[in-house]
Amino acid sequence: MRSMIPDYLAEALGDVASDASGETAGYIPELATADPDRLGAAFAMVDGEVYGAGDIDTSFTIQSISKPFVHALALADRGFDSVLAKVGVEPSGEAFNEISLEGGTGRPLNPMINAGAITVHSLAGAEDLRPAERVERVTDGLSSFAGRRLEMDEAVHASEMEHAHRNLAIAYMLGSHGVLTGDVRAVVDGYVRQCSLLVTARDLAVMAATLANRGVNPLTGERVVPERVVRQVLSVMYSCGMYDAAGDWATQVGIPAKSGVAGGLIGALPGQIGIATFSPRLDRHGNSVRGVSLFERFSSDMGLHVMEVPAAARAALRANDVLGSGPDALRVLQLQGGIRFAGAERVVREVVETAHLDVRVALDLTRVHSMDDVARRVLLEAVRRLTLDGHEVYLVDPEAVMPDPDPGDGGRVTVVADVDQLVHAPGQVTGPGSRPQ
Ligand code: GLN
Repeated sequence: MRSMIPDYLAEALGDVASDASGETAGYIPELATADPDRLGAAFAMVDGEVYGAGDIDTSFTIQSISKPFVHALALADRGFDSVLAKVGVEPSGEAFNEISLEGGTGRPLNPMINAGAITVHSLAGAEDLRPAERVERVTDGLSSFAGRRLEMDEAVHASEMEHAHRNLAIAYMLGSHGVLTGDVRAVVDGYVRQCSLLVTARDLAVMAATLANRGVNPLTGERVVPERVVRQVLSVMYSCGMYDAAGDWATQVGIPAKSGVAGGLIGALPGQIGIATFSPRLDRHGNSVRGVSLFERFSSDMGLHVMEVPAAARAALRANDVLGSGPDALRVLQLQGGIRFAGAERVVREVVETAHLDVRVALDLTRVHSMDDVARRVLLEAVRRLTLDGHEVYLVDPEAVMPDPDPGDGGRVTVVADVDQLVHAPGQVTGPGSRPQ
């Protein structure tokens, strides 16, 4: 069988291909020379599988799509407090190149608009780096996100610097507020170099998939930035990534995203997929016209909106049975699936209602494939409380899905690999076993 995914992508491209509306970015003359008919789309799954159709290996400059990734590097290199002290996380509702700063502090409102991104560039790498070394740090970092060494387009850099009056004006204003220090022209030059790194739609999909994969590049296995940095960056992409179209985007497409004026557009759906499209003609917000159409379609065809409420996950509690009888009777609560807070709560409720009937209580995790830290803590606290109430508590956990099963103060638990190890007459079910609905 041939996978239907590349066919689906080719069909989606075919449907938007004839839309020639919008204009290439004229304010950077070198970009205006790009072939406006280029069109490509790529999906990178969080396990590294990449699908594509159309022009997914054509190089173009990354432009503003660099912003979330350099924001991630700055957060990783300098910490949240130092970055937040200089750049906010509030949507501006304004154009990407608006000359606006927060009243009072002079901070740019967020890292996705140019004022914020120029500041964030100055926060990548150690404080005392020289401008060229900072560009090197940014190039290295973005290359790690892409999983290959990225090169710079010197012609696009030179072309943008010749017309960088607006970004220079923003930078001088940042300098006057003390948000930027030192040679502000060199910061703009570094930021424009960052924007001039060459990528393909395939690269961008992998970069987005690295965010979707909690900061680990799915092709190289390299952890590029810590998980908590990724959460911060995706949140800012969700609320600010599409500039003054961010609200429309959040409601209609619902995928954390970022666009660039060379025609790239990325979306990162946590835990699932990195998506990239390439089509150079832009709408009035500076977002790729056909890229936006493709994302609208992908989101609705494949149910990718992050606010889409999933069908209630199958109950975390599969069964509640009593095995054996008399003083050796064992109450077994069988859990299943991925356990997070709501699943753990359901199990705790069942424990509260039924476990008092038997001295020996087992939580069987054999069918659990994952458990987050909150669920782990809630279940261990249940174990501790059961011990304090005089129960003997067991965990059946053959695959060690619960790391470090220590219930803490006064709690005690015995971990076994198979429930049969706990039952004297294996398989014999007696007593008032009940199945939860
Ligand atoms: N280098 C461009 C600029 O600073 C990036 C803008 C964009 O892609 N939206 O104007």
